[in-house]
This record gives sequence, structure tokens and C-alpha cells, in this order.
Amino acid sequence: MYDKGLHDLGDGCHAWLQPDGGWGWSNSGLITGGGESLMVDTLFDLALTRAMLEGIRPVTDTSPVRTLVNTHSDGDHVFGNELVRDAEIVATEAAAALMTQEEVEGLAALKKLPGPRGDFVRKVFGPFEFEGITATPPTRTFSGETSLDVGGREVRLIQVGPAHTPGDAIVQVPDARLLYAGDVLFIGGTPIVWAGPVERWIAACDLMLELPVDRIVPGHGPVGAKPDVARMREYLVFVQQEAGKRFEDGLDVDAAIASIDLGEWSGLNESSRIAQNVVNVYDHRDPDREPANRLDVLGRIAALEGFTV
Ligand SMILES: [Zn+2]
Repeated sequence: MYDKGLHDLGDGCHAWLQPDGGWGWSNSGLITGGGESLMVDTLFDLALTRAMLEGIRPVTDTSPVRTLVNTHSDGDHVFGNELVRDAEIVATEAAAALMTQEEVEGLAALKKLPGPRGDFVRKVFGPFEFEGITATPPTRTFSGETSLDVGGREVRLIQVGPAHTPGDAIVQVPDARLLYAGDVLFIGGTPIVWAGPVERWIAACDLMLELPVDRIVPGHGPVGAKPDVARMREYLVFVQQEAGKRFEDGLDVDAAIASIDLGEWSGLNESSRIAQNVVNVYDHRDPDREPANRLDVLGRIAALEGFTV
């Protein structure tokens, strides 16, 4: 069942889901124990996060949020942090370094870009309000692994980035056999490799497949399980092989993007993310290459989405 709002997953664990899981429509989680809660990620703006905080009151009235974990630094997982600022906020050191006011203002500025890139941003981020957000970074950081105590219950944080972003972490609740994966798992949508290399994301998939968990809450999409991880891993291997082959053949990046036939993957939502994914493979294969500029990539994605001058 993929309805907007609070989902009781049993064992004192919840998910707050936002269909359809496309650009900016992220999920959040709530783990309760001993009369307190740990929240996994906030949402993309203050209104959405306020609505979620209201919607989870049946849980948090008796188990207030004492800890917030940000799985990574992307705005759709952290821009609501200021509304949970009384909690301890935890993220990897690499993610924390990117949770700045400049990031907030950079995204707000993208909505004002002229031309096809701006048109695309206004289409996908139109429903979100970035003005008035105050960046609220973590109060505690870690690298590698750490464990948190939620009212006597163990919650494990495992850094798997750089993969989707430089500082990705996953959140395991061992006694519930449950995992909150953040954006190292997309279900129904196309994963986007901002940081990479893609090999590290594939390794993160292997780790998720090995963990003793039965259910997985992705950063975007409905609640799933290991077969969803295996499926997304296949897409990442496809990207690695197809982009890698074209790099070896000497194709330039635009020719590579244009010549890849997505085949079975064309049915995933946001399939135009292939543009960034190919660029990322090229960036890592050739250290002398001018690093990808997000604005250029946005132009390529916008073009694949049919936005032209
Ligand atoms: Zn996200």
C-alpha cells in the first residue's frame, strides 16, 4: 500500500511516505523505544515537514522525537531540520559538511533560472518552497559506523557513501529486522549517482542484501524488501557497463547518453537521470576530465525531458 502519510510497520517502527516518490517526494521514518523516538530524515520544505510532524502526533505525543538522523545531505531529506532542532541531529561528517545555507539558496536560485533548465526545475520543484529555510546542520557527526540508543533499543548507522551523495548512511533496526535506506535505495524510480563511483553504490547494495533485514524503507518509493535492492543493483550494473563501454570506445559524453537504449529500464520513473549517471561514470574514469557541472547536467536532463529552447 503506497498512500501518503503515516504507515505503522509494527515493532514500534513507522514510515511517512510521499507518493509518487519522484523528484523531491522523499520518505521519512520513525523508530520508537522506551517513550522516545528517533526520526529518519525531514522533508523538502517547512510546510511538508510541519504537516508530517502533525500527522505523526499519535506516536510522538507519547514518544517525542529526541534524535533526528539525516541519511544524507540532499535537501529533500534535511530542509525541514529546523522544525526538529530540539532533537540531537546526527549524520555522517561528509553529509554534515554539505548541509549549508548556500545549498538552500542554490536550490532556490535554480527555480529562477531562465530557459529550459529553469523550466524543468520549476516543473519538478514547483510544489516545494525553499524561501525562508534556515539550514540546520547536525549536532553530532560520525564516520564509518555507530550505534544509537533509542530508549534501550539499538539503532545502527552505517556509512555507505560516497554513493548517491558524498555522505550516505543507512539506518538499521536490528530487533525489527528493518532498514531505512535513504537514497541508496529508490523503488519505482531511477537512482541518480551524484557522487559515486557507481561501484561503491553497487557495494552498498551488496551490503544491504547481506544484512539480516526483511523490510526496507527506501528514500523514495513504497516500502520494499531485498528483491527491490537486487533490481536496482541490476540498473547500476547496466549503467556501469554501458557507460564504461562507451568511454572505452572514445565516445564523448553526449554521444554516450544519446546512444544508450534503456530497454527494460525505460519503464522506471525519472529515466532521464541516465544523463547524470553517464556523466558520473565518465568523471570517475577520466580524472583529467573537467568535473561535471550540475547546471550542465541539468541541461542534459531537461533536454531528455523534452525541454528545449
Ligand atoms: Zn531524496
